[in-house]
Amino acid sequence: MGDVAALLKENLANVRGRMSAACQRAGRPADSVALVAVTKTVDAATARMLYDLGVRDFGENRVPQAEEKAAALSGLDIRWHMIGHLQRNKVKKALPLFGMIHSVDSLRLAKEIDKEAQKRGSAIDVLIQANTSGEESKFGLAPGDALPLVKEAAGMAGLRVRGLMTMAPFYDNPEDCRPCFRALRELRDEIAKAGIENVEMKHLSMGMTNDFEVAIEEGADIVRVGSALFRGIVPATQH
Ligand SMILES: *Cc1c(COP(=O)(O)O)cnc(C)c1O
Repeated sequence: MGDVAALLKENLANVRGRMSAACQRAGRPADSVALVAVTKTVDAATARMLYDLGVRDFGENRVPQAEEKAAALSGLDIRWHMIGHLQRNKVKKALPLFGMIHSVDSLRLAKEIDKEAQKRGSAIDVLIQANTSGEESKFGLAPGDALPLVKEAAGMAGLRVRGLMTMAPFYDNPEDCRPCFRALRELRDEIAKAGIENVEMKHLSMGMTNDFEVAIEEGADIVRVGSALFRGIVPATQH
């Protein structure tokens, strides 16, 4: 256990160091980027160690796993982020768990979230997931569909649109991800310019272990990092 904690501490310091170096290169304040620790490959006890190291934002890509971990870590001031594809039949379960859903990629999903959030008398922060890589991908809207969806979602009392999310394809050279990240930033700026009421195009959730530095250089203010934090730690479960 002690070894795992020490390793985590070292990995976290490494990731944070690389994040601030990227901020510096981009002329941005070191605290302008939030780290979401993606805990999908580790158990609740490992996540808890990260919490003890000061991490408060955790990401999961599946509702049942998030539910399990949130239950194991209940009572802690953790903000859970839904970063994976969300099925409509999981929305009801997802709402009480998550502080933010990064992966809204259809009007049907937005409507379901709105309906269930309103039933709870609440509203949830969401990001619209766009596919700006031009590569075939199962998830993420075509960039041209983002503005129309944001306009629709703006009228939904159960949703607060707070920005955009993307996932770059895996490239050996992270530089190859740059156009994808740049395109998301430009899309964000374009939607922000439309000045839609109830919409705040504040967040850009982009960048993972392989490419978060490039994402920060291109304006990410949320990076979602898993592998780099858990390097050397045996996964508890494999999803
Ligand atoms: C798994 C995952 C991450 C983290 O990926 P790593 O390469 O392990 O850092 C980020 N975003 C999403 C949507 C994921 O599913």
